[in-house]
Amino acid sequence: MGNSGSEQVVINGIGGSPGICIGKAYIVDREGVDVIKRYRVDEAGAAQEINRFKNAVEKARQEHAAVIDSLDDDLGSELNILEAHMVLYKDKMIYEKTVDTINNEKINAEWALKKVSRQARLRFKNVDDPYLKSRADDIAQVAEKVMSHLTGVQDIKISEINKRVVLVAHDLSPADTSQIQLEQIQGFVTDRGGKDSHTSIIAKSLRIPSVVGLGKATAGVANDDLIIVDGGGGKIIINPDEETLIRYEERKVRFERYHAGLERSSYLPAVTKDGETYTLLSNIELVEEVVSARDNGAEGIGLFRTEFLYLDLKRFPTEEELYSRYKEVVELMAPAPVTIRTLDINGDKVNPSLFSLEEANPALGLRAVRFCLKNPQVFLTQIKAILRAGASGNVKLLIPMISCVSEIVQVREIIDQAVNELEKENKEFSGKVALGIMIEVPSAVIVAEKLAEYVDFFSIGTNDLIQYSMAIDRRNRQVAHLYQPLEPSVIHMIRLTREAADKKGIDLAMCGEMAGEPVNIPILMGLDIKELSMNPGSIPTVKQMIRNLDSSETRKDLEKALTLSTAREVRQMISDKYKELLVFNGQE
Ligand code: PEP
Ligand code: MG
Repeated sequence: MGNSGSEQVVINGIGGSPGICIGKAYIVDREGVDVIKRYRVDEAGAAQEINRFKNAVEKARQEHAAVIDSLDDDLGSELNILEAHMVLYKDKMIYEKTVDTINNEKINAEWALKKVSRQARLRFKNVDDPYLKSRADDIAQVAEKVMSHLTGVQDIKISEINKRVVLVAHDLSPADTSQIQLEQIQGFVTDRGGKDSHTSIIAKSLRIPSVVGLGKATAGVANDDLIIVDGGGGKIIINPDEETLIRYEERKVRFERYHAGLERSSYLPAVTKDGETYTLLSNIELVEEVVSARDNGAEGIGLFRTEFLYLDLKRFPTEEELYSRYKEVVELMAPAPVTIRTLDINGDKVNPSLFSLEEANPALGLRAVRFCLKNPQVFLTQIKAILRAGASGNVKLLIPMISCVSEIVQVREIIDQAVNELEKENKEFSGKVALGIMIEVPSAVIVAEKLAEYVDFFSIGTNDLIQYSMAIDRRNRQVAHLYQPLEPSVIHMIRLTREAADKKGIDLAMCGEMAGEPVNIPILMGLDIKELSMNPGSIPTVKQMIRNLDSSETRKDLEKALTLSTAREVRQMISDKYKELLVFNGQE
């Protein structure tokens, strides 16, 4: 049922990648793969099923490798995503679990894969973080490719479509998307997918306009329907009327002109107009996020939050479990640095099956390093795993929530104990792991100079520094209006930390969300924070911002900001001065 010849229909989805395209719809249907049967097998049959599964994975990998080979080497970020998908084919969560499921349940390979990939997807879908949620799509896409080899249902070859069309599909994988030739395919729309899905990331970097997450809406599109894809607005218009068509033709021309310059500079380093170099790193929570860090041009991991594994299990993870995760991240990023933060549990991240604390104010309770110092065995296990991972690359150890000197003294005692034990156990580890603390409690700012005597670097965690200095629960919407990174008191605290680090000659980084917003960058540059770690998706825009700023100007901005009284005034001052850059970055 199409809309040919009928009225204009506007459908809202999620903007996968900005840009506008106008063309005829071309339906890509691969629903066949979804019809999977379950049957039981005996011992010998299970061995055969495992073989079949392994062969299918191998074929899917080879096909994927051929796609990678077919791409141009200078497509840095797309290649990274596709290479990481290569890793997913052999990921424990899918590969090993499917083999185990066939073995344990004596069922056919298709059913085992379907079951395992569904469980893995659900695990990601149920988390709050939109980025992690969208990792569910990566798993689904990889599983579907393997499935198509198991069932023999042929995939459509996107690279062989040779009409100037707009693709309409249930889902497209990053590999499919990378095969889109813009001279042929103008853009695409899909039922599945989200803003942070890898398909969207690739579409963005290849500048293919797309709208994703349309639910079942694409069922209402027929082949050859005229369709407008408004990637920025996250909507599609089927069979537009004359006036809409003209309006969108004009917008398309304007958009293309505007973005022509941006694309050329997105893979360049973060060097200011006057030649100062910044290092942009990524914050991650899961091994799988390394993909996004690399896609977005991160020069390392500035904050690896390690809570996830502790929240997922009904017991504390073992040293081996922790070590294998950390090592994977370190190896994937090597030789770039990976800063692993020790457990920051409680506060807002609780695992009731491990312990239930009844605290009236969890944010002020037995959180992070406080919990670890009360449970030294848990802490020791983690530190040993981190030091061991250090042998595989460049690792830094970061301790959260330090509020006074005695805590860092105790931490160092535990690190010494970890080193002694590893030596006795004859395990390989690095003795050169740099030690840092998060500066996220106001008392730590006040005694920063003293703290600096015990560590190699500071990393400012503005999320908590704002929470604790302004006395606002970061999850409480009633007080969210007070949560302002550009609040003068916050800027002053960062400045004090900067001065203490300089005086003691230690490195200073920032890993709170403040670093990921272009509007804050002039002030952070004024404060000379050369290492900025952020949500991976923010890296390209922050980089763009830095490349357009002059550090001597930003020092003046800081001076001016320090004379102002409110966050609103500081923000206004920055917005007025850098209006064009901020519009350009989609901020204002
Ligand atoms: C911070 O507090 O700024 C930070 C980066 O840590 P988290 O958000 O994990 O508390
Ligand atoms: Mg914090």
